Amino acid sequence: MDAIARSVPVGIVGAGTMGAGIAQVAAAAGHEVRIHDAAEGAAAAAVEAIFQRLARLVDKGTMLADEAEDAATRLRPAGPLEDLAGCGLVIEAVAEDLEVKRALFTGLEAVCGPDAVLATNTSSLSVDAIAESLAQPGRVAGLHFFNPAPLLPLVEVVSGARTDPGVADLLVATAAAWGKTPVRAASTPGFIVNRVARPYYGEAFRLLESGRVDAATIDALLRESGGFRMGPFELADLIGHDVNLAVSRSVWEAFGRDPRFTPSVLQERLVADGRLGRKTGRGVYADDEPRPAPSTAEPVSGTVAIWTGAGGFDPSVPGWTMSGDDVELRLTDGRTAAQRTGGGPRTVVLVDVTLDRSPARVGIAAPEHAPKEHVEAAVGFLQGLGLEVTVLPDLPGLVVARTVATLAAAAADAVDSGVATAEDVDTAMRLGVNYPRGPYEWGAALGWNWVAGVLDALAATEDPGRYRVSPELRRRAREADGWRDDAEVVERDELARRAADAMWADDAASQALGMTVEQVSAGHAVVTMRVRPDMVNGHGICHGGLVFTLADSAFAVACNTHNRRTVAFGADITFLAPAHEGDLLRAVAHERHRSGRTGICDVTVYRDDVAIGEFRGRSREIPGTLVADEEEP
Ligand code: NAD
Repeated sequence: MDAIARSVPVGIVGAGTMGAGIAQVAAAAGHEVRIHDAAEGAAAAAVEAIFQRLARLVDKGTMLADEAEDAATRLRPAGPLEDLAGCGLVIEAVAEDLEVKRALFTGLEAVCGPDAVLATNTSSLSVDAIAESLAQPGRVAGLHFFNPAPLLPLVEVVSGARTDPGVADLLVATAAAWGKTPVRAASTPGFIVNRVARPYYGEAFRLLESGRVDAATIDALLRESGGFRMGPFELADLIGHDVNLAVSRSVWEAFGRDPRFTPSVLQERLVADGRLGRKTGRGVYADDEPRPAPSTAEPVSGTVAIWTGAGGFDPSVPGWTMSGDDVELRLTDGRTAAQRTGGGPRTVVLVDVTLDRSPARVGIAAPEHAPKEHVEAAVGFLQGLGLEVTVLPDLPGLVVARTVATLAAAAADAVDSGVATAEDVDTAMRLGVNYPRGPYEWGAALGWNWVAGVLDALAATEDPGRYRVSPELRRRAREADGWRDDAEVVERDELARRAADAMWADDAASQALGMTVEQVSAGHAVVTMRVRPDMVNGHGICHGGLVFTLADSAFAVACNTHNRRTVAFGADITFLAPAHEGDLLRAVAHERHRSGRTGICDVTVYRDDVAIGEFRGRSREIPGTLVADEEEP
């Protein structure tokens, strides 16, 4: 589809920040531009301001004097709305108020010819709602520029349910002809950027609220390990907490107060206190105070150990690990270092995600009671690679990993809900908010099962609603493990059920404890157990060994579902909360990984919706099957 011809005049309604910026873009692209504003003199002032900006571009050498002059001659303030009558495209950038915009579009429909395209620059309102009462809603679409419009390349072309596909195509072609990079989005809350970016701020504020990591450290890790241009607090201080909170609130409300989008209490307090960021001199940081330094480990000397690991240092790839004498460095998978160390012989020190193999800083975490010399050995090794090291508390998902996992999940969710293609989501986030890598591509690179694993760990320890894994993300994670969601899977699940039944029939131990297999599919099992009076210990809570046994039984069922005899060769559990007599416990087992004859299975034990135990089992196949692979006819 061709772009709107340069000979076609463009109308701009609203001569504020955005309207003036868009007018400059359209005039520079060769259109005659008429600017209308309801406020007396506002359009003329905007035209004057654009002249000055063009002159500055000429002074800086970024625009030729002739081009600037030509653009200036094409711009003019319009009188009443009727002056936009001959425009083939009108872009609205008035106040963000649905009633104001509706009234304006009704006026535009009366004034403009039937072929004129009417676009809105709204950041948060529904295109459908704006076009609702029009006779020709098909010609209305969103054309969402970012501030400052002349500089930022991204434009979201937003289609409402009734937008004519040809209109969206025309706007995509026109934005491209104006030198912008258009992406297509459906009219859903926050479109792409404002929706997918929420976790960048949301996770940072949650960490800060926890009181366990300070703002400067969070910002430094996201910049220097994650590769983001600005840390979340620096960026929110720049955007303004009032603006950022308003976007969070509107997305949260529009999604029916979905806990994934719950605004931060801390940010609300900043706004209430007038700490809006750079514009008031104070936000998370204060302009008149020195910026606090991030937490950085003191240099460690004298640690000599041989460190081995295929591929060397690279915690940007899934499954990365390196081993020293008593210490294993591993990329975080969401669980804590204490969980991953378990009762193992070596201390597991978790390493936070890095954008690539050469970050400037890296975050690590060790179990709370790890020997000091083990932590120092890890710090010394990493410092020897030239890295700044931040020793974090043993938090699930550390800092960068939880941010990248939640951003990737938000990107996948936008794709799965039909908001945009994966490619457009990634383009929007790279160009709209300068992310170093598209979050969808990043999630795919780290592995959707890694993303789901980090969310599962956060759901288990922090908030099951906020970090729930969508069914589509779960399916992606399973597919990444080599699963397919079709008839083959149904067949495999039937075999899984038969294999599990055969194994369970001989499992007298689990049955004696009153356990029931509730669900089975290939690689998955749910087993329940009611806490009986003879299961509680001297503290009146369910004996930990029995919670372990329940998790172990679910693990056993899940890893035997492939109809290969499979046994455990290691398992560890972390108890998160107690269970009492009468509680119905539910162990949910998911095989995370299976390669050759070994596998890893994660089990979460729940009491109602509360996770009370996190268990990881390592399995190994032994010869033999549980049932005949094919039933004899
Ligand atoms: P602004 O307050 O700077 O400008 C709005 C202008 O619209 C004012 O000059 C006002 O007089 C005029 N106006 C209000 N009602 C009008 C009406 N009925 N008819 C004609 N003119 C009217 O606002 P802004 O920041 O430029 O935002 C405009 C739109 O762009 C909003 O929908 C906003 O959500 C969206 N947006 C803003 C940004 C941003 O960063 N500022 C970014 C993207 C999108």
